[in-house]
Amino acid sequence: MRREGAASVEDELLAFGAELAGEPREWGRLANEHPPVLRTHDRYGNRIDEIEFHPAWDWLLALGIRERLHVPGAYVARAAKFIALAQVEQGVGCPLSMTHAAHSILDTIDDGMLVGMAMTERQGGSDVRANELEARPAGDGEATLHGEKWFCSAPMSDAFLMLAQAPAGLSCYFVPRGEGFVIERLKDKLGNRSNASGEIRLEGAWGRLVGEEGRGVRTIIEMVVHTRLDCVLGSTALQREAVAQATHHCAHRAAFGKLLADQPLMQNVLADLCVESEAATVSALRLARAFDEGDEFRRVATAVLKYWICKRTPAVVGEALECLGGNGYVEESGLPRLYRESPVNAVWEGSSNVQCLDVLRALRREPAAAEAFVAELEERDRAGVERALAGADEQGARRLVETMAVALQATLLDRHGDPAVAEAFRAREGYGAFGTLPEGLPLAELVERHTPQVV
Ligand SMILES: Cc1cc2nc3c(=O)[nH]c(=O)nc-3n(C[C@H](O)[C@H](O)[C@H](O)COP(=O)(O)OP(=O)(O)OC[C@H]3O[C@@H](n4cnc5c(N)ncnc54)[C@H](O)[C@@H]3O)c2cc1C
Repeated sequence: MRREGAASVEDELLAFGAELAGEPREWGRLANEHPPVLRTHDRYGNRIDEIEFHPAWDWLLALGIRERLHVPGAYVARAAKFIALAQVEQGVGCPLSMTHAAHSILDTIDDGMLVGMAMTERQGGSDVRANELEARPAGDGEATLHGEKWFCSAPMSDAFLMLAQAPAGLSCYFVPRGEGFVIERLKDKLGNRSNASGEIRLEGAWGRLVGEEGRGVRTIIEMVVHTRLDCVLGSTALQREAVAQATHHCAHRAAFGKLLADQPLMQNVLADLCVESEAATVSALRLARAFDEGDEFRRVATAVLKYWICKRTPAVVGEALECLGGNGYVEESGLPRLYRESPVNAVWEGSSNVQCLDVLRALRREPAAAEAFVAELEERDRAGVERALAGADEQGARRLVETMAVALQATLLDRHGDPAVAEAFRAREGYGAFGTLPEGLPLAELVERHTPQVV
């Protein structure tokens, strides 16, 4: 964080971290155990569509708003705080992230507003061009909206950016929540349970065109790029939290007369997890700096890291859970909540395949973006990526993007990371289960580096 340009807020960050380690951890548990409930009507039968949240949700959201995670600011400093909050609770990250991202395309959002984003419809989320929600122009860029959206997270937000079909094609609209905005029901989700995700119906709701009519995808894509950065940050947070729980547990739990952290095979598992979490952290913060600097590197790196870090997270959390044995499978440990949360960032904001296809698209259409990615790599990491790029096609897109991600993380750990972590990362012989690092690495030190210094 210091390296990536956020040294001036270091004390503030440490204080925020210390605050989060207190009561907010319990708020995270409560907010998930008491998910939001939709109240569609009042007692007189009037439609109200109000969502009732547990107070713990409001306290956590207020913390994120107090730290200004929902408005533009220096990216690296925000990234560090976002990761810290997401280690405690991921659900509030969704409205904070969408509102922050909305600022990238709108300059008329009041400070206190929350802004959501509704693109996905029943017939498709990846293929948004198949959207059917209809925008009927009402003059001066205004329109009424008619139809449905199948996923609309944080539907209690004050306004939404929505894609709808206008006469000139798919267009982006700013839609305040008001008359004609109906919440049909809330989704019963695997994880992210503290957050509300709804299905909505638009019955003539008012909207204002943003950008050019017919260029909706082009308009909303900058918002999506920002929420993809937050997916990377959120998954990094999940890895860090799970690894902290695993190393802490194994530093205190004994089996066969010795602490788990001192058992050679467990050391290998833990060290491998620590290396993964550190690689995610270093690369996530480098990506955040690219947003601060408006760097061309951001274009391809966002999709590459969204794919890889989000994809690795369920494996990391699953392995960390197992380090706690049976206790890790039980709710009190907190690991089941992390595990349920772990796939979501790979799914939304463009699923894994969509990220890989986006990398291919950028390589084809924006050669400067690919060049900026390769230029970031150390000489020794370039050849493999250049070879993979030369043969890039759709069927092999995951192989390509994995190669790019691993090369980038190796470079960044060499350049900025702890030398022993960088060496262990390069010593990996494959990406199967964790715990297969080869001989000769200082495993105990790697684990020690990631073990929380609390009792
Ligand atoms: C908790 C949660 C909250 C959400 N909140 C919102 C929200 O607020 N607003 C919103 O707009 N959406 C939201 N979504 C929806 C989400 O963005 C979509 O689910 C996602 O984009 C995938 O779309 P889909 O579900 O229609 O799957 P599909 O588009 O049907 O895709 C299914 C699978 O096929 C893959 N695929 C698609 N096309 C190709 C291809 N050409 N080649 C290879 N593979 C392909 C995808 O990667 C995916 O794995 C949310 C989803 C979740 C889970």
